[in-house]
Amino acid sequence: MSEIDPFENMLAQMDRAEPYADVGPGVFERLKHPERTLKVTLPIELDSGDTAVFEGYRCQFDSARGPYKGGVRYHPGVTMSEVEALAGWMTWKTALVDLPYGGAKGGVVCNPTELTDNDIENITRRYTEGIRRMIGPETDVPAPDMNTGPQTMAWMMDTYSMYKGYTVPGVVTGKPPEIGGTLGRVEATGRGVAIVTEQTFDYLGRRLDDASIAVQGFGNVGSHAARFLDDMGADVVAVSDVSGGVYDPDGLPVESLVSHVRDGNMLSDAAGESISNDELLRADVDVLIPAALENAVTEAVATDLRADVVVEAANGPLTPDADRILRERDVPVVPDILANAGGVIVSYLEWVQNTQEYAWTLEEVNSDLRERLTDTFDAVVSRHEEGVPDLRTAAYAIALERTATAHDFRGLFP
Ligand code: GLU
Repeated sequence: MSEIDPFENMLAQMDRAEPYADVGPGVFERLKHPERTLKVTLPIELDSGDTAVFEGYRCQFDSARGPYKGGVRYHPGVTMSEVEALAGWMTWKTALVDLPYGGAKGGVVCNPTELTDNDIENITRRYTEGIRRMIGPETDVPAPDMNTGPQTMAWMMDTYSMYKGYTVPGVVTGKPPEIGGTLGRVEATGRGVAIVTEQTFDYLGRRLDDASIAVQGFGNVGSHAARFLDDMGADVVAVSDVSGGVYDPDGLPVESLVSHVRDGNMLSDAAGESISNDELLRADVDVLIPAALENAVTEAVATDLRADVVVEAANGPLTPDADRILRERDVPVVPDILANAGGVIVSYLEWVQNTQEYAWTLEEVNSDLRERLTDTFDAVVSRHEEGVPDLRTAAYAIALERTATAHDFRGLFP
């Protein structure tokens, strides 16, 4: 975990938006505190024969607008404070894109690269048992996040359903389509990042089809964002994972890098000129897309950063100081709660399909995703043009107002 506490970062982002948001002080104070966080202990008999004890969390941040919603991450750096920050960001994200949800997040402190598939299944089932009293299609709906995916969601759905005695597809989103997952969910966050990048270029009056792009993080979000941007004609010139990355000023062969990583290889072993993560963040490109962990872009990186635009595919990838420096330098930053909202939008579409027991086509899902992101982008830009100084603050002003309005109507009870 980095030294900058993500929860403090989220609170600082809220504070910055307060003067621009029509939110009473009592409600604003209330919005700074998560409703509840459960910590669970997960004793697991590993394939190695050892018994290991893992820690997991589920934070339910706010439910004024609907059921709690948010992913589950498996990572050695997970902390309660990080999970609470991520749950807060989910609250602002679902409000910003106007989904009938609140915000939540979960996490298990573990290193999936050191575990077998069987160990991960056992951790997932035990974690689901630990939090099953607080989740459900009408209460709190988990989804994938870092190092979790359709198989993890299948195990969560199965475990929850076995305790219920009947199959409950709507308890999680991001499932395999064969068991109620929607088409288009796996690539939705990356597709959304590409759509929002395209809209940003339109807004700036620039052409995306000759832009150069650097992507830090090549997991589900970064790799799909790179693929869609490559399809849109942009040159993806640098990509990296934890091991480092590759660089080609004429554009990288994105599809073959995706297969390279899918086959279990690291990007530092890919053919081509290598680039460190640090160099990638400072690369002379049109767009930088941090798609890995929080606090990747530090004050020092922000000072040297040469990209014209930053699109936050990760949650909280800028430290507060980095954010301030980029504002001072007039580098537009498309905030996480807008840039990576494609994932939760398509999660919502999956949940609606589960509730109605009626599946949509991929075209229906993708066009709904594009429309919601376009409308949200336009709303954020209008708010910015009305005098809110930057895109993040404009996005927060909208999200905080929507959440506060829900609290105002509902009142304080009991
Ligand atoms: N984990 C994703 C996020 O950070 C998706 C959450 C969801 O689909 O509920 O937005």
